Amino acid sequence: MAEKLYELTAHAIHDLVKSRKVSAMEVAQSYIDRIGSVEDRVKCYVTTTPELALKQAASVDKAVARGDEISPLAGVPGAVKDNMSTRGILTTCSSKILFNYKPVYDATVVERLRDAGVTTLGKTNLDEFAMGSSTENSGFFVTHNPWNLDSVPGGSSGGSAAAVAADECAFALGSDTGGSIRQPASFCGVVGMKPTYGRVSRYGLVAFASSLDQIGPLTKDVTDCALVMNAICGKDPCDSTSLDVATPDFTKSLVEDVKGLRIGVPKEFFAKGTDPDVEKAVRDAVELLCGLGAQQNEASMPSVDYGLPVYYIIAPAECSSNLARFDGVRYGLRSERSSDTVSMFQTTREEGFGDEVKQRIMIGTYALSAGYYDAYYLKAQKVRTLLRRDFEKAFEEFDVLITPTSPTVAFGIGALADDPYAMKLADVCTIPVNLAGIPAISIPCGFKDGMPIGMQIMGKGLDEETLLRVAYTFERNTDFHKRKPEIC
Ligand code: GLN
Repeated sequence: MAEKLYELTAHAIHDLVKSRKVSAMEVAQSYIDRIGSVEDRVKCYVTTTPELALKQAASVDKAVARGDEISPLAGVPGAVKDNMSTRGILTTCSSKILFNYKPVYDATVVERLRDAGVTTLGKTNLDEFAMGSSTENSGFFVTHNPWNLDSVPGGSSGGSAAAVAADECAFALGSDTGGSIRQPASFCGVVGMKPTYGRVSRYGLVAFASSLDQIGPLTKDVTDCALVMNAICGKDPCDSTSLDVATPDFTKSLVEDVKGLRIGVPKEFFAKGTDPDVEKAVRDAVELLCGLGAQQNEASMPSVDYGLPVYYIIAPAECSSNLARFDGVRYGLRSERSSDTVSMFQTTREEGFGDEVKQRIMIGTYALSAGYYDAYYLKAQKVRTLLRRDFEKAFEEFDVLITPTSPTVAFGIGALADDPYAMKLADVCTIPVNLAGIPAISIPCGFKDGMPIGMQIMGKGLDEETLLRVAYTFERNTDFHKRKPEIC
C-alpha cells in the first residue's frame, strides 16, 4: 500500500495517520516522490515546498505520538493556488510582474489550513491574475491536463485541478471569479466548489474582481470537499465581506438522500454550442437522481443570456482598479528602462503584465470612465440585479439547479488561442453563479473520448449543505470519481 499513498483521498489519509498505520512523513514523502515523477509532464506547480511539507508532517507525527486529538486534515498534503499569500514563499499570480514577490503575511485560508495540520506541497499555476479559462495565460508556462497532456486543464485554477487529478496533492485551493474552480475541476475530473460569496475569507487572496472572487476547494471526492470547507469557512475580521454566519459541520451533509428534492434544469444553460455528449451525460445524471427519489422540471432564467457580457464589464472594471497597485514601487518587478517615476510605472506595467491582463485593464478603465460609466458599468450592474432575481425566482420553485459545468470537455492546448470568444464561452454556465453570489459545485458525471465531463449543481445562498448532499448521493451511486488518468 505504502507506495500508492498519493492516490488516497484526504479522509483515507486521515484514517491511516490517526490510527498510526502510516506516518504523516510517509504520506508527504509519497506525494513529493509523485511530484518528482510526473510534474515534468503536468507542470502544475509554480513553486514546490517539500521541506516545509516534511517539517509540518513531522509535527503532525509528534502530535499523534503524544496522543493528541488531530484535526481531520492533519498530515494531509495540500496545494494552494499561487494567488494566495504565503508568508516568505513566492506568490506570483503567475505574472512576471510578481516573479520575485514574497508576501510578509499568510492569507487567512493558508493560516486556517496550517492550523488544521495540512502539509503544504506548494503553489499552483494559474492564468495570470486568474484571468483566463485554460492556464494558457500563465506568464510562466502552460499546465497540461493529466487525462491528455495535449489538452488544457481549464482555468484559471488549472494548476490546482491538474495537481489533484494527477495525484500531485490530496487537495488544493482555488479561486473562482467566473468559474475558475468549477471549470478546471470539470476538465480534470475532480470535485470543485465555489462557496457562497463571503463564506470564505478573501484576506490575502490577490484581488481580481472583488465582488465576484471566492476561494474554494478542489478535491478527489465530495467527502474531502466537505472537510476542506469545514477548515476554511467562517467570519474573518480581516475581510469585511466575509459573512458573520456560523459554519455548519459540512460532513453532516454527507448522506445519501435526495427524496423529494426539487431539481430545476434551466434550459438557457444547454444553449447552442453545448456538446451533445456533455448534455446527455448531465441529463442522464439528473435522471439518476430522479431514480433515487428526486423530481425534475425545466426552469427558465431569461437574464442568464446576459451573464457573459455583464461579467466582461464588471470583472474588468474591478480588475482595472485592483491591479493599479502593481506599479514597480511596492512589489515585484521594477523596470530598468525608466528615467523618471511616471515612466517607471509605465515601463514596469508594460513589461510585467501579459496581453490578457492589459486588455482587461484597458476595457475596465474605459467602462468606468466619465461618459461611459452609465452606458456600460451602471447598466451591467442593473442587469446583474435582474440575473440575481432570476435565481431568486428559480429557487422559490427548486432546491437545486443542475447544468453542465462547461459546454464542452477540455480542448486542445492552443486550439482556441485565436478565438477569444470561444474561450470565454467555456465559462458561460459558471459565470452567472458568481454574479448572483450563490454556491455551486462541479462533480464528475461522465467521459467523452476519455476526457471527463462535469455537472454543476447550484444552490441558494448559504445552502452548500444541500449541494454536498446531492453531490454525495450522486457520487455514491456512480464511479466516475474513482477513475484515474494514466499520465503518459
Ligand atoms: N475565465 C474567466 C475569466 O477569464 C473566469 C476566471 C476566474 O474565475 N478567475 O475571467
